[in-house]
Amino acid sequence: MDVPVGFVFAVLIATGLIVGSFLNVCIYRIPRKRSIVWPASRCASCERPLAWFENLPVLSYAALRGRCRTCGTRISIRYPIVELVTAAAFALDFLAFGLTPLFAVRVLFACAMIVLFAIDLEHQLLPNVITVPGSLIGFLASLFLPPGPAMSLAGIAAGGGLLWLIIEVWLRLRGVEAMGFGDVKMLAMIGAFLGLKLAILTFILSSLMGGVIGLFVIATRRGGMATALPYGTMLAVAAFIASVAGERLIDWYVHLYL
Ligand SMILES: [Zn+2]
Repeated sequence: MDVPVGFVFAVLIATGLIVGSFLNVCIYRIPRKRSIVWPASRCASCERPLAWFENLPVLSYAALRGRCRTCGTRISIRYPIVELVTAAAFALDFLAFGLTPLFAVRVLFACAMIVLFAIDLEHQLLPNVITVPGSLIGFLASLFLPPGPAMSLAGIAAGGGLLWLIIEVWLRLRGVEAMGFGDVKMLAMIGAFLGLKLAILTFILSSLMGGVIGLFVIATRRGGMATALPYGTMLAVAAFIASVAGERLIDWYVHLYL
């Protein structure tokens, strides 16, 4: 049976928006140690439970002009942004993998990266309840799918080990923590899903981003390093790029020198 690709795309975008709406719940509740399944969504300010028509991804935000209907409190622009970014991740993963089992795994991975990005940005925190089970799920998926169990284990060891080593060396040399152990566990999880090669690519891409943003901060004199983005946000973006385009990026780079 032939389903038009436009129809598949529309269904994927709609699913991505709905999943993004759930990711918003995770982003709000996980750092506050609340259940992500109960109770139903409510206004963060007046706590009134939301009606179904106030809970539609992006559309409700636009219709309500970003304010609660009862108390008038501003609703964070983060909500529609997370929903749109999640839908975009669904679309990009579909273009990269088609409707395959690997697509499902990489979409799950992208969702975890979106949640970690948003929580790290707001709380400078990368919760263990995501990174630790995430590493296990990535490894279990690799028993059946790329990168395969050996490369997944190597990715966990190299990803986690590399950042752990940087923390240790920095601590001895400078007496400060270069980053937190949340970052170590996050790169280990990235290694579990993407394997050794793409975990290293993620580390390189995230370091480049950190350098560019650092230079920008210095050039515009917008405060010290304290105002720079937390490292987990750059790991999340770099890992998503590596996940959908890593192999092509590596091919392109290798061919520059051949
Ligand atoms: Zn309200």
